Amino acid sequence: MNIILLGPPGAGKGTQARHLVETRNMVQLSTGDMLREAKDSGTEMGKMVADVMARGDLVTDEIVIGLIREKLEGDNKGGFIFDGFPRTLEQADALSRLMADEGQTLDAVIEMRVDDEALVARITARSTCASCGEVYNDNTKPIPADGKCSNCGGTEFTRRADDNEESLKTRLMAYYKQTSPLIGYYYAKDMLSVVNGLGAIEDVQRGISEALGS
Ligand code: AMP
Repeated sequence: MNIILLGPPGAGKGTQARHLVETRNMVQLSTGDMLREAKDSGTEMGKMVADVMARGDLVTDEIVIGLIREKLEGDNKGGFIFDGFPRTLEQADALSRLMADEGQTLDAVIEMRVDDEALVARITARSTCASCGEVYNDNTKPIPADGKCSNCGGTEFTRRADDNEESLKTRLMAYYKQTSPLIGYYYAKDMLSVVNGLGAIEDVQRGISEALGS
């Protein structure tokens, strides 16, 4: 089963994708993670996108479609989870074409719905384990008192450079202007399920399982 997790920054796409990887052996394809990796390892492409990402704008369709194209050729185990891709109608059309070329189908699109106030609160409180990527939140899921990641025992935690109020405004605007039309696009294709992203992590997990029919 290949699925898209659709939702604004801070909706919990990454957290839920990680759970699906663990429980269903799926493969998470996060274009945000791929771009951050390129930036951190100092590739030419990484240097090109660094400023755009720091501002909170979208990088070009060409770059992210190229990243996804490469990954679709790899093993998809229990299926792909597209996390943060597609973000424009052009990307959505490209994904349909790429999947068809690979003889794959896109089975479901899950919109994770949350309100804007909750997003700002979540994002400004978020940190990530530098070793395994486990996501923490100062209010709802704090880093354990012993300072060790509950998933891998790592002791280093980072905050994303673009998790600040200024960039978040731009990221939200990009979501509403460029990405939210995908909700109608996939609704019209009869592929959309809506899950309330505001509940406890376990409740959202349950909502996603129901939407996936299991
Ligand atoms: P994310 O981790 O998904 O929040 O992405 C972080 C940043 O990477 C975004 O604010 C964009 O600058 C860039 N980015 C990630 N995915 C895409 C995409 N599909 N299209 C364009 N830009 C993207």
